[in-house]
Formats: sequence, structure tokens, C-alpha cells
Amino acid sequence: MPATAAPCQTTVLDLALDHVPVMAGRIDAQHRLCFANPPLTTALGFPLDKLLGSRLEQTCLAGLGELFARHCQLLSPGEVQVCQLSYQHPCLGQRSAEVTLASHHKQGDNPAGWLFFVQDTSESGNQASAASHQQLELEQALTGAIQRGELVLHYQPLVDAEQRILGMEALLGWQHPQHGLLAPAEFLPLAERNGMILGIGQWVLETACAQLAAWQQDTQRRHWTLNVNISARQINEPGFFERLDATVSRSGIDSRGLQLELTETMPLKGLNRALQHQLQQLVDKGVVLVLDDYGAGYSSLAYLKHLPLSWLKIDQSFIRGVLEDMRDQKIIRAILSLAASLELKVVAEGVETREQFDYLRNAGCHAFQGYLFGRPLPAEQLNAHAPSAVAPAPARTGS
Ligand code: C2E
Ligand code: MG
Ligand code: MG
Repeated sequence: MPATAAPCQTTVLDLALDHVPVMAGRIDAQHRLCFANPPLTTALGFPLDKLLGSRLEQTCLAGLGELFARHCQLLSPGEVQVCQLSYQHPCLGQRSAEVTLASHHKQGDNPAGWLFFVQDTSESGNQASAASHQQLELEQALTGAIQRGELVLHYQPLVDAEQRILGMEALLGWQHPQHGLLAPAEFLPLAERNGMILGIGQWVLETACAQLAAWQQDTQRRHWTLNVNISARQINEPGFFERLDATVSRSGIDSRGLQLELTETMPLKGLNRALQHQLQQLVDKGVVLVLDDYGAGYSSLAYLKHLPLSWLKIDQSFIRGVLEDMRDQKIIRAILSLAASLELKVVAEGVETREQFDYLRNAGCHAFQGYLFGRPLPAEQLNAHAPSAVAPAPARTGS
């Protein structure tokens, strides 16, 4: 916005002293909101459309521009007006913002354009504001994380009752430039809410398939399966199965090595016939379906009835107390008996001690995963140590 850059910049710098996100832009002759180009942002620099998120509950940016312009038209040269906005942000919930409108008069009384500056005023100055600030920063940083090569996949072994490696589970991490390696729980919920999970999930699938292709070329590892976590949002996205097919074909893998982990948090209403049919087609091509975190979610038997599953993964919350808590033991035995009657195999995850392993093996679990057998590692380190990464389990150990 060359004509208005100077006054805009001056005001932005003043407002920036408040240390809250401030955006600047102008309203053009068609009453559309335009952002400064190059973006005139503060040190915190969040773009307006990010801050406004769902855009004032369906008010599109064009409509907002008209609203601002109407206010601006009432302004005399040099005057400013402050409006309060409240809107629903997809990540941060209910937000409020203060919009400062200013008319920009080049000469005389006719405005050459209008300027606006947006300041987030939700709970400013308190902890919640700082937290939402961090969320916005995280969201901003996550936007380019794939392109900057900051996402990583680590691989954790799944073993059989003799501790032989059956395969690996791919677990996502984000190598944040300031905060170091972040676990999925620190950024995936945000990515789920703002839709970034779709791009991230596709990156995970491509990276995992490329890794599986490499293992399938390696005589010692060609029998390894690779488990990939898929979120409910991903699977319900139109075109997911077509993209998955294309990714699998491009990678050249034998698709029987690919195992998709779904969780019970997938809404039941999403389990419609079309989805069931697509999952069945996937299974017909050799892909294996695993129900992850079994017992921790809705625990609805409808998942077992409607999904063409091969494996149940018992949630680690039941494994943790398995030696002391009779109820955990009974639940595990009930899951094993249910799985046997449905011809499903069972994995126990979160196995940390030799005693837990012995108990679960004797109870009849088919596969095991946990720190006892190996922590998630980058593929290079795994290649260096595997299969000896699975050291003989010590008699008594913590994690
Ligand atoms: P999950 O799929 O159930 O993965 C198992 C989690 O338990 C992993 O945590 C793993 O590091 C951890 N774990 C493994 N063994 C042990 C153990 O012996 N003790 C304990 N205390 N923990 C153990 P992580 O990597 O933090 O992942 C958390 C969750 O994030 C995963 O749970 C999965 O639901 C999700 N996730 C991870 N990667 C992806 C991904 O690529 N896509 C999607 N959509 N979700 C992912
Ligand atoms: Mg999993
Ligand atoms: Mg799990």
C-alpha cells in the first residue's frame, strides 16, 4: 500500500508499544480490507486474518471493510475512531479486539483512503493473554514448519512375545527452533483445530511411506511393518483415500507393510457406510487397520462391529497399573477375550517393566510396545542399533 505506508507505519509503531498483537492495513475504494504490503506488522506481527480467525462469525473480510469504511466516512481529517469487536477465534475461543480507524487525507477534505489497526484486547495483561499469545506464536511458527524441515518422525519398535521386532510406529515431533523437540500433544491439538493437521498428516504419510520403502529394500528389515497414526479429521477430509492411494503408489511400497492407527475418538457419526466401504477397500489392498488407545475413548463396540480391524491396541493407562490393580487386569483379560472372539490380535502399549511384559505375555497379548523395548528414535539411530536396539530386558527396571 504505497500511498499510505508512511502514516500507517508511524501509527503501528506507536501502538506496538502496548506489546500486544497489532495489525495494520487499509480499506480500499471497494471497501475491501487490505493488508499492508509488505505486511506492516509489529515485532509480534500476526496477520489480521489469523487474529480474526473465523472472521466475526461469518462476516467476511469484505463485509468488515464496508463496516469500517462506514465508520471512517464520518471522520474528519486527522480524527480517529475506536470500535470494539468480538469474535470467535478457532483456536483461542471468544476474543475481543479494539479497532482503531483513521481516515487518511492526502489533500483537502476528501479522504484518500482509510486505515485500520487491530489490537487484541481479550484478557490483556493477564496469564490467559500470555497463553493465547503463545498459542498464536505457535500457530504462526507451525505454518512454515513443514517447509523449513522442522517436522520429524521417530520410530518405536513393536515386538512379539520373543522380543523380535515386528515393526515400528511412526511418531511425530516438531523440532522447534526456540523450544527444542516438541511432543505431538504440544502442537497436534492446535493443528487439529485450525486444519493444519491435513498438511501435516500428508507429510507424515509421505515420509513414513518413503521410510517403509527403504526398509523393504533392506534384507534385515523388509518384514517390518510401519504403523502410522491417522487423525479423525484427516480421515473425514474429502479426498483422503485418493491421496493415500497416490502416496502409497508413488512410494512403491508393498502396502501390506502399512498399518494405519485410528483412535476411538473418531466420532461415531463419521462411521457411515461410505467411510466403511473406503476402509474395506484399503484393507482389500493389504493395508492393516489398528484401533489405537483401546478402552480410553468411547469404548463403543460399534467400532469393532463396523471397522475392518486386525489389531486392538490396549491403552497404556491399563498397562500402567496392571501388576497392582485387579480392575486393570480384568479389563485387559476382557479385551483379550473379546478380541479373540472377533479374531483380532492385541498389542499392549506403554510396557515399561519386565514384570508388566511377563504378565501381558502370559495373559495372551500378541505384540508389545514401550520403553522396555525401545524409545522412539530417528530412523538413522534406529538403523545404527536395530535390531539390537531391543536389548535383553533386565530383571527389574523402571523405564
Ligand atoms: P499413540 O499413538 O498412542 O503413541 C504412543 C505414545 O506413547 C507416544 O507418545 C509414545 O512416545 C508414548 N510411549 C511409548 N512407549 C511408552 C512407554 O513405555 N511409557 C510411556 N509413558 N509412554 C510411552 P507421543 O510420541 O508423545 O505421541 C502421543 C500421541 O500423539 C500418539 O499416541 C498419537 O495419538 C499422536 N500422534 C503421534 N504422531 C502422530 C502422527 O503422525 N499423526 C497423528 N494424527 N497423531 C500422532
Ligand atoms: Mg498410535
Ligand atoms: Mg496409543
